Amino acid sequence: MQAKIKVKNPLVEIDGDEMTRVIWHLIKEKLIMPFLNIDLIYYDLGIKHRDETDDGVTIEAANAIKEYGVGVKCATITPNAARVKEYNLKQQWKSPNGTIRSILDGTVFRKPIIIKNIPPAVRKWEKPIIIGRHAYGDIYKDVEMVIEEPGTAEIIFTPVDGKEKKTLKVHDFAGRGVVMGMHNTEKSIRSFALSCINYALSERIDLWFGAKDTISKKYHGFFRDVFAEEVENARDKLQEAGVRYRYLLIDDAVAQVIKSEGGMLWACMNYDGDVMSDMVASGFGSLGLMTSVLVSPDGKYEYEAAHGTVMRHYYEYLKGNPTSTNSIASIFAWTGALAKRGKLDNTPDVVRFAKMLEGIVIQTVEKGIMTKDLMLIAEPPATKYALTDEFISAVANGLEKAVQAI
Ligand code: NAP
Ligand code: MG
Repeated sequence: MQAKIKVKNPLVEIDGDEMTRVIWHLIKEKLIMPFLNIDLIYYDLGIKHRDETDDGVTIEAANAIKEYGVGVKCATITPNAARVKEYNLKQQWKSPNGTIRSILDGTVFRKPIIIKNIPPAVRKWEKPIIIGRHAYGDIYKDVEMVIEEPGTAEIIFTPVDGKEKKTLKVHDFAGRGVVMGMHNTEKSIRSFALSCINYALSERIDLWFGAKDTISKKYHGFFRDVFAEEVENARDKLQEAGVRYRYLLIDDAVAQVIKSEGGMLWACMNYDGDVMSDMVASGFGSLGLMTSVLVSPDGKYEYEAAHGTVMRHYYEYLKGNPTSTNSIASIFAWTGALAKRGKLDNTPDVVRFAKMLEGIVIQTVEKGIMTKDLMLIAEPPATKYALTDEFISAVANGLEKAVQAI
C-alpha cells in the first residue's frame, strides 16, 4: 500500500439523508479514506439531527465553510408536511441549501459530467455547458394583483427621507387584467456577477451573460451594466486567464448555446436560469451526472450533486432489495472539493488524486460498468447494470491499481 496523500487544510464535510447518505459512506470508506490523510470537519445534516439541534447544525456548517473555504455536501431532505409526519419533526425546517446559500451569499453553478458512451441529446455538445443562476429576486419575490374593474395601476416609490414620491403609471385598465411588481438589488446583482467571474476564472472558461435589454431598457439594462462594470474591474485577471466575456441578447444566447460545442459558463437571470438549467440537464442525459457548486463572491466553495436524496431507491434499500443508484455526481462532489482544496493549499498531489479519481469513474462507465439510469441511455447500449455498491467497488479497484502504478 502506498503512503496516503496528505491534505494540508481541513475540508468541511456535510452529511445528509436517505439513499445519498448510504452512498456517501460507501464513497468515504472505499474512495477517500484509504487514500488520503485528511482532516474532515464533520456536520450531520441528516433530518433527525437538524431537528434535534433546531436546525442550528445547518448554520454551523455554513459558518464552517466560511471559515475553512471549501465544503462537500450530501443531498438533504427539505421537509414538507409529509416529511414532518414521516420523521416526527418539531417543525417544517427550511431548505438547508437555501440557508447555506443565504449565509454564503452564493451563486449555484450546475455542471454536467461528460462520458463518451452517454451521448447528449444535442449532438454538437462535447464540453459541459455550465449554468450560473442568479438566485435572488425578479418573479421569485414579486407581488401580483388580478385587476377586477376599470382603473389605473401605478408604481410608487417613497424615499425614506421624506423627499417627493416618484410615480409611474403601469396601465389604465378598461376591464379585467393582471399586474405584477418585481425588484432586484444592485448588491445582489454585483455578488452574482462576481461569483460568475470567480467561477469562470477558476475553470478558465468563457463567460456569457444574456438578458433582454433591448426591450427592458432599465431593468435588464441595469443587470447588463452592473455585470459589465464587474467584468471591467476584473479585466486584467480575465485576460491573463484567457477568459472572454460575451454579452448577448437572451434569445441569441439560447440559439448560440444550442449550436455550440459547449465549454462556457452561461450566467442567467433568475427565471432564465430556472428554465435553462432543466433544459441543459435533460439535454446532457441523467440527473445522476449533474454536479453543483455554490460559490460565494469572496471565493468560498461548496460542492454537491444536483439531485436529491433519491427517496424511492432508499425505500427499496430499507426493504432489503438491491438498488442501482448512480453515485457519480456524489463522487464528483468529493473530487471537486478536493481539487479546490488542493488548488487553494497549493498541493498539486491532492489535485492530481481528484482528477485521477474522476478519470477512473469515467473509464469505468466507458468500459460498460454503469448503473441502471445510464444503461437506459448508453450508446452503444449496455447489456447489464451494476448495483449501487458494485459500481463504487469497481471504481475502488481501478483507483487502487492506478495509485499503485504511480
Ligand atoms: P431526487 O432525489 O432527485 O430523485 C428523483 C428521481 O430521479 C429518482 O426517483 C430517480 O428516478 C432519479 N434519480 C435522481 N438521482 C438519481 C441517481 N443518483 N441515480 C439514479 N436515479 C436518480 O428527487 P426526489 O425524490 O423528488 O426528492 C427526494 C428528496 O430530495 C426530497 O426530500 C427533496 O427535498 C430532496 N432534494 C434535495 C436536494 C439537495 O439536497 N440538493 C435537491 C433536490 C431534492 P427513478 O425513481 O425513476 O429511478
Ligand atoms: Mg427549473
